[in-house]
Amino acid sequence: MIRPIVAYGATVLKKKSENISKEYPNLSKLIEDMWETMYASKGVGLAAPQIGLSVRIFVIDTKPFASDDELDPAEAKTLEFFKKVFINPQIIKEEGDLWSFNEGCLSIPEVREDVNRKEKITIQYRDEQFKLHTEILDGLAARVVQHEYDHIEGVLFTDHLSSLKKRLIKNKLTSISKGLITVDYPMRFPNKLRRK
Ligand SMILES: [Zn+2]
Repeated sequence: MIRPIVAYGATVLKKKSENISKEYPNLSKLIEDMWETMYASKGVGLAAPQIGLSVRIFVIDTKPFASDDELDPAEAKTLEFFKKVFINPQIIKEEGDLWSFNEGCLSIPEVREDVNRKEKITIQYRDEQFKLHTEILDGLAARVVQHEYDHIEGVLFTDHLSSLKKRLIKNKLTSISKGLITVDYPMRFPNKLRRK
């Protein structure tokens, strides 16, 4: 089932999410819905707060990045198969130089900005079977994880921008929260005005 994606301005996107237990109701159905919602909106990642749930789960499939000719073949190969569910993740280390990448977000359509993040992370998480994993990631795989991880911490990519950039996109963000945009996947807008 495709669930509507919550737009910029919703309080659930600004809240730190809670860990879940193995007994979380209908977990496999939730994960299935998250995949379906992510693919329907052509995203490479989706976090639970984006469908209105304040829980620490996100899904990632970076396959669309793998066809980028600019990438070196080894990274392209990693991205082609980087498809995972992250439950109760914890980034335990971020290291390396800051690098910039043009990010977008399904909750903030039509806005893309360069964001600086560290190049390498160590993350601990549970998979769908609640098996614990520790992984070291870098490049675009780390980048997408950092973006989705921010969501469960209540942080959006726009929070990383300079105050000048924030001022420049303020009106755009306000119109997104009001639903004054056209988007080709189902969304829920927190400040949508009721039609008379
Ligand atoms: Zn996002």
